Amino acid sequence: MMGPSHALSGAAVWLAGSWALDHFADYHQSPLALAVGTAVCAGGALFPDLDLSGKVTRNQGGATVARTFGVFSLFVAEVIEKISLGVYYATKLSRDPRRNNGHRTLTHTLPFTALVGWGTTTLCAAYGKWAVVSILFFMIGLALRGLFDEWAERAGWVIVTLASAAAAWYTFANLPGDRGYPMIGLAVGVGCVVHILGDMITKAGVPILWPIPIKRRMWTMIGLPNSIALRTGSKAEVVVLRAVLTAVAVLAAVGLVAPGVLRRFDIEI
Ligand SMILES: [Zn+2]
Repeated sequence: MMGPSHALSGAAVWLAGSWALDHFADYHQSPLALAVGTAVCAGGALFPDLDLSGKVTRNQGGATVARTFGVFSLFVAEVIEKISLGVYYATKLSRDPRRNNGHRTLTHTLPFTALVGWGTTTLCAAYGKWAVVSILFFMIGLALRGLFDEWAERAGWVIVTLASAAAAWYTFANLPGDRGYPMIGLAVGVGCVVHILGDMITKAGVPILWPIPIKRRMWTMIGLPNSIALRTGSKAEVVVLRAVLTAVAVLAAVGLVAPGVLRRFDIEI
C-alpha cells in the first residue's frame, strides 16, 4: 500500500472507533481531542515505513514518510532500517532467507507496535509538555505528508515541518492535560497496527507472527495469495480502497460532530 492509503486508513479507523465509543459507550471527546487522535493515528499508520530509507546524501528515495522532514527523516529512516536488519539477523533461524535491507521486518511486528505505544505514553507521562509537543510535531508531520501527499510534495519539507510545528503548538496550548497523554500513545499504537494490517492484504505480507518460530523460520511473511492480493498503486487501491476509507472517515466524523452542532442550534433558537 502507498503512503496516502496507510494514512487514510489510520484516520478512518480512529474516527470510526471514536464514533463507536461515543455511540455505544458514552465516551465523548472534544472536537480538538478527536482531531489530535485522528492526526496522530494517521501519522502512526505511516510510522512502520520509516524502515524504508533512501539516499541520505542525495536527498532521494525512501518511503513517502521518510521524506517528511527532508534529510533529517531520511537519516532517521536509515538508522531504523539498519537496526531492523540487525534484529533480523540476530533472531533469524536457518530457513529465514538472507536480506540486504530491513524493510518490512522489525517495525512491522506486534511487539514493536506495543513498544511504540507504551513508549509514547511513558515519554509523555515522564517528560510532560516537551515530550507531548515533540511527539505531536512528529506525528502531525507524518500525517500531513500522508494525507495531503500532493500538497506536501509541492510545498516541500520545510513548509510541512513549519505547519506541523504550528499545529503541535496550538494543540498543546488548547488540549486539557492528563486525559490526552494515554490517548496519544494509544493512537500511535493503533496506527501501527492498522499499517501492519494494510500491508497484510498485499502479496509481500508482513512478519505478523514474529517472534513465534514456525518450521525453522522466525520471520514468516503472512500476506494474501497473489490472485486476490492488493497491488500497490493499482486502481483497486487508489480509487476503490481510498474512496471507501474516505467515506468511513467522513461518515464517522459527521456522526461525531453533528449531534453537538444540532444541540447548540436548538439551544440558541
Ligand atoms: Zn509497510
